[in-house]
Amino acid sequence: MAATPELQHTIGKSTALSGTSLHTGEKVTLRLQPAAADHGIKFRRMDLQDQPTIDAKIDNLKTVERATTIGEGAMRVHTVEHVLSALSALGVDNAIIEMDANEPPIGDGSAQLYVELIKTAGVVPQETPRRIFDLREPLHIETKNGALLVVLPDPKFRISCTQVGPEGRFTQFYSTEITPAIYEREIAPARTFVFYEDVQPLMEKNLIKGGSLENAIVVRGEAVLSKEPLRFTDEFVRHKILDIIGDLALFGHRIRGHIIAVKPGHGPNAELARALVREHAKTLPTLQPRAFPPGEGGLDIKQVMDILPHRYPFLMVDRILGFEGDMRITGVKSVTINEPYFGGHFPGHPVMPGVLQVEAMAQVASILMMKITKSASRIGYFISADDVKFRKPVFPGDTLFIHAEVTKARGNRLAKAKCQCTVNDAVVSEGELMFTFLDK
Ligand SMILES: [Zn+2]
Repeated sequence: MAATPELQHTIGKSTALSGTSLHTGEKVTLRLQPAAADHGIKFRRMDLQDQPTIDAKIDNLKTVERATTIGEGAMRVHTVEHVLSALSALGVDNAIIEMDANEPPIGDGSAQLYVELIKTAGVVPQETPRRIFDLREPLHIETKNGALLVVLPDPKFRISCTQVGPEGRFTQFYSTEITPAIYEREIAPARTFVFYEDVQPLMEKNLIKGGSLENAIVVRGEAVLSKEPLRFTDEFVRHKILDIIGDLALFGHRIRGHIIAVKPGHGPNAELARALVREHAKTLPTLQPRAFPPGEGGLDIKQVMDILPHRYPFLMVDRILGFEGDMRITGVKSVTINEPYFGGHFPGHPVMPGVLQVEAMAQVASILMMKITKSASRIGYFISADDVKFRKPVFPGDTLFIHAEVTKARGNRLAKAKCQCTVNDAVVSEGELMFTFLDK
């Protein structure tokens, strides 16, 4: 059987730290509290009347100048990106971030203090599967000032980033997969950096009261001014990656994809988070048939591919939506114009071949068989198809729901399943399939 689905995580216990906020220079205490599955990450302002909470979601984004600020009504939470970055990268899906001021402590300008806080609290699994957005098609945003962010489908969460300073100074590149261990070692220690020409007017206006060489690296001309030496020769680009992770946490789902970022910043990062929300919304109708099958949870494409040996262009199921007891299964396949067979079936009039719908039924049914017989180490061979009927044509843009129900199972070797494909609740094809199982 497939690997168990990834679970949501929260923190093990309530844990706090205190420090100074960057923009106001005030002292602030931040406390992380565990939260239930599907709660997400929320901030709570303990210093305001009624202690309001706010979702760490892109819909609540207010400003992106120098830092990422979220808000609702008159309430604001500034500079959310470093604490969100650490929570996201260390795998915390659900938590409440309580603060008695409008901005988290800046620490040394890196995310190290939050990594330590989260490790003290512990990261514990919950019972609900994690929501992961598997990007299916490349996505990109571009801004007027030359920022370019691309997300490519990828089985892992990776970031490749190019940081470019004024006049091309301190141009740096870094590329890495993001796992908790890599983040803690390679990304979290990277500190905030500023170019002197950018902060000088702010210092004059007294807008960064808490700013000092203790919590930021200042670049003046070619000189790098900081309290302690650079932690990495390419510390700047690593901090940019830290910020990307924090800003994209506002998307609200984990991402499987490769982010390629050129000249990123809070503005472009937020724009990408919005684009991800839009892209994700498009996939929702294809993931939810009108009657979602009760019972066990589904399998994502990775889990499907762990079970089935089929690969492009012959993998005919994108996702298993769920099981109903041990006897029924529903899978889904988005039929796109990019399917290789449409070029020839038929030119100018694309129709999904009926035999491929039968293949889709066979693949979905065999996942169910392997679940019943616990024989994922074997391949199900499709040995007969009876009463096959094709009732309606399937076109590009259709979402094919593939249903299978076991009607007969003899030992671990032979099984029969009644199958149907539906589009918009109408049966487009059906048949009764028989399988035998052989060792791989
Ligand atoms: Zn930052």
